[in-house]
Amino acid sequence: STDVIKNSIVADMNLAPEGHLKIDWVEAHMPVLNRVRKEFEADLPFKGLKVTICLHLEAKTAYLAKVIQAGGAEVTITGSNPLSTQDDVCAALVEDGITVFAKYNPDPVEYKQLIMRSLETKPDFIIDDGGDLVTILHSERPDLLETIRGGAEETTTGIIKLKALEKQKVLNLPMVAVNDAYCKHLFDNRYGTGQSAFDGIIRTTNLVVAGSTVVVVGYGWCGKGVAMRAKGLGANVIVTEVDAIKAVEAHMDGFRVMPMVEAAKLGDFFITVTGNKAVITGEHFDVMKDGAVLANAGHFDVEVSIPELKKRSTSVRTVRKNIEEYRFADGRKMYLLAEGRLVNLAAADGHPAEIMDTTFALQALGLRYVRENYETLNPAVINVPYEIDEKVARHKLESLNIELDTLTEEQIQYLDSWNV
Ligand code: NAD
Ligand code: SAH
Repeated sequence: STDVIKNSIVADMNLAPEGHLKIDWVEAHMPVLNRVRKEFEADLPFKGLKVTICLHLEAKTAYLAKVIQAGGAEVTITGSNPLSTQDDVCAALVEDGITVFAKYNPDPVEYKQLIMRSLETKPDFIIDDGGDLVTILHSERPDLLETIRGGAEETTTGIIKLKALEKQKVLNLPMVAVNDAYCKHLFDNRYGTGQSAFDGIIRTTNLVVAGSTVVVVGYGWCGKGVAMRAKGLGANVIVTEVDAIKAVEAHMDGFRVMPMVEAAKLGDFFITVTGNKAVITGEHFDVMKDGAVLANAGHFDVEVSIPELKKRSTSVRTVRKNIEEYRFADGRKMYLLAEGRLVNLAAADGHPAEIMDTTFALQALGLRYVRENYETLNPAVINVPYEIDEKVARHKLESLNIELDTLTEEQIQYLDSWNV
C-alpha cells in the first residue's frame, strides 16, 4: 500500500474522505455489481494478474475498480477524458490500494503521459473506453502489447476503432465489445445519456428547457434517449440525421426531422450525439440565434467545431464554470459547454449509479470471460456472450423485485415447431 501511494499520481491525497463518501454512496445503489463482487471474492478470477482500467474516473468507475481488485487483481487506473476525472475519488482509490494515474484537467501532454504510465505497469488485461489505450498500444507502444492477453471496450466509438484495426488485420488482442451487449446500449446509451446529458446542461446553465427548442444531432441509442428526455422536459425537439432509417424512426417517434442548416436557425440548445466530427460547424454558426447553447454528449471535443467557433469570435470568456461565451463579430454570443467535451461527464457525474450498475457488471463479467478464454479467442472484437447479458438482466430484475413468467413445456414445443 505504501508502494501504491508512492507510485500513484493524483492531485491531492487530502481529498480522500470526500472520495470515500462518494464511492460508498454508489456502492449502495449498484446491487448487480455487488453480486458480481461476491462471486469474485469467492472465485478470485484475476488472482495474481494485473489489470489496467481507462474509464471516466468518478465514483462508479472507482467501485468497478474495487470489484476487480476484489477478484484478486492488482489494479491500475487512469482517466478516459481530461475533464471527467474527480480528484477526491482518485485519492480515495489510492488509499484503497489501487494505483492511480489521473488528475482533473491535465494539459494534453500530461494527460497522455498519465495514460502511458498506466500501461507501463505491464498489465495482463485492460479495460478501455473509446480506444485510448488500444490506440496508444497499436500506434506508439506495440512493445507493451506483449504482456496483454485481452480486454474489454466500453463504448460505441471504441468498438468502431477496434473494428477498423481488425479490418486492417493489425488488432493484436481479443477485446470484448461491452457496448454491443443489450444490457449496455439499451440502458446506458439511451436512459443514461438521456438523463445525464440534461443533468450536465441544467446544472451548468441553470436555464429553462420547457418551451425551448432542443436540436438533437444523431438519433442513435444516445440520441433517442436525449430526445425522449428533452420532450419530457417540455422542449420542442428537432432531430437531425444522415441515416434514412433513423430519420424515419425519429419522425415516427414524433420529432421534427430536418437538415442541420435548417435546425441551426431554430435551436436554443444543441446536443450532439453522433461520435462524428464537425457535425455543427461554420455554416451552422452563421445562422444560429444569439445565445444558442452548444453541448456534446457523443465523443471527444470534435463534434462541435471549435476552430470554426474561434474563427468567428472577437472574444472568448468563461461566464460560468463550464460555459465559454464566444462573441461573434456581428454581436451574437454562442455558449459552449464543457469545452465541447462530454457534457454529462465533464459538467456532471455521468450516468446514474443504477445505470452504471448493469454496464459495469457486464464489464466485470466480460473481463472474466476473456480472462478464462483468451487462449482460444482470436485477436478480434468479441461479443459479450448472451448468457452473460441475460444473467445481468436477471440480477437487475431481482434487485428490483420484479418477477418474470416462465414458458411451459407446451409453449416451448409450440414455439419450436412449424406444423402445429
Ligand atoms: P449510434 O451509432 O447508435 O448513433 C450515432 C448516430 O449518429 C447514427 O444514427 C448516425 O447516423 C448519426 N450521425 C452520424 N453522423 C451524423 C451527422 N453528421 N449528422 C447527424 N447524425 C449523424 O451511436 P450511440 O451509441 O448513440 O453513440 C453515439 C456517441 O456517443 C458515440 O461516440 C459513443 O461512443 C458516445 N456515447 C457517449 C455516452 C456518454 O456518456 N456521453 C454514452 C454512450 C455512448
Ligand atoms: N473517452 C471518450 C469516450 C466517450 S465515453 C470521450 O471522453 O470523449 C462514453 C462512455 O462513458 C459511455 O459508453 C458510458 O458507458 C460511459 N459513462 C457514462 N457515464 C459514466 C460514469 N458515470 N462513469 C463511467 N463511465 C461512464
